[in-house]
Amino acid sequence: GYKKVVEENRKLYNQLQDLKGNIRVYCRVRPFLPGQASGSTTVDRVEERNITILTPSKNGKDAKKAFTFNKVFGPTATQETVSHIIDLDIILSFMLHFSAAEVYADMQPLVRSVLDGYNVCIFAYGQTGAGKTHTMTGPNNPTEETYGVNYRALNDLFCITQQRKETISYEVSVQMMEIYNEQVRDLLATNEIRNGSVNGINVPDANRLPVSTTSDVINLMNMGHKNRAVSSTAMNDRSSRSHSCMTVHVEGKDLTSGAILRGCMHLVDLAGSERVDKSEVTGDRLKEAQHINKSLAALGDVIASLASKSTHVPYRNSKLTQLLQDSLGGQAKTLMFVHISPELDAVGETISTLKFAERVSTIELGAAKANKETGDVKELKEQIANLKAALSRKE
Ligand code: ADP
Ligand code: MG
Repeated sequence: GYKKVVEENRKLYNQLQDLKGNIRVYCRVRPFLPGQASGSTTVDRVEERNITILTPSKNGKDAKKAFTFNKVFGPTATQETVSHIIDLDIILSFMLHFSAAEVYADMQPLVRSVLDGYNVCIFAYGQTGAGKTHTMTGPNNPTEETYGVNYRALNDLFCITQQRKETISYEVSVQMMEIYNEQVRDLLATNEIRNGSVNGINVPDANRLPVSTTSDVINLMNMGHKNRAVSSTAMNDRSSRSHSCMTVHVEGKDLTSGAILRGCMHLVDLAGSERVDKSEVTGDRLKEAQHINKSLAALGDVIASLASKSTHVPYRNSKLTQLLQDSLGGQAKTLMFVHISPELDAVGETISTLKFAERVSTIELGAAKANKETGDVKELKEQIANLKAALSRKE
């Protein structure tokens, strides 16, 4: 009956997810900030999957360049819409017209896939000030409305583990790390701050703290934030020059069979991607800039080679890609979320951010591929229509 239809929908959903591949690229444009003159912007046009950038030129002939991604969020997108797209793929839930709250919650693919033993990486990329931390964490002193992806993802996890508690017993724990100058630091180690270069990879002994409520999560996030701040005395804004990673581990035990499933999700707020003018910086700043360039390039290379299904994936070129190796590629799902600033004078960084994103994207404009996808999607849509009819007969 009803259950079977839901189960069928799940299957279709997975098929659609598979069609879309394991690498997605989203783009978000920050709004002008309060007090900023919002007159001239480099963002010419934002559509669901396209963004057009205006490049001003001195001779008055402005050039336009268009980019296509899996999803583009304009300056008015709310934290909720952004998280919903990540977690639910709203387009699909519209297609399926789910009305029952339970089904809706149960279809959250990203969260569900972690609970089903998949690994997920979400990266926030972009120049400093473009809105990476806003998306992942939220503003300072966030409210329920303005919390970012990290909090919302954990909140969703707790909802679903609660719903499934009769059949599966879940344990959720969190690690927080920072990578600065190619060194991994544990942000949840209270006594001693370990340098996690154990074997050069994976930091298996970074503190992993159990969480079961959203207030546990908020406490941990505050603790990580504090530990990060402590080390920033020497630099004015270290947070923009290090990568920070919150890793959520989930272990589920099937109460009937005793089988154990493990999944994890890495939520990564990357260091600012802006080019540093080598003629202007020296010493520590130059070293930092070189480490950042190297690790962002290494991340780009890894995702690009996964996107192009290359046989060699160069994980070993940076600490970041070594740390996340198990969660990049294979069955793991990757979301590269790039952020851009709307200001005209950011246009150089904006274009280079979008080019980075384009390079790691699996979207091809080739006709052959597009045709194949339309065919598959058409077929799936028909099946969905049939299921919907079955569902409404049931009601
Ligand atoms: P980044 O982490 O990329 O350096 P931030 O997330 O710190 O950038 O954003 C820079 C400033 O812009 C912050 O004051 C932040 O609150 C604000 N901001 C960023 N994105 C948005 C947004 N979508 N809506 C409103 N304010 C934003
Ligand atoms: Mg930031």
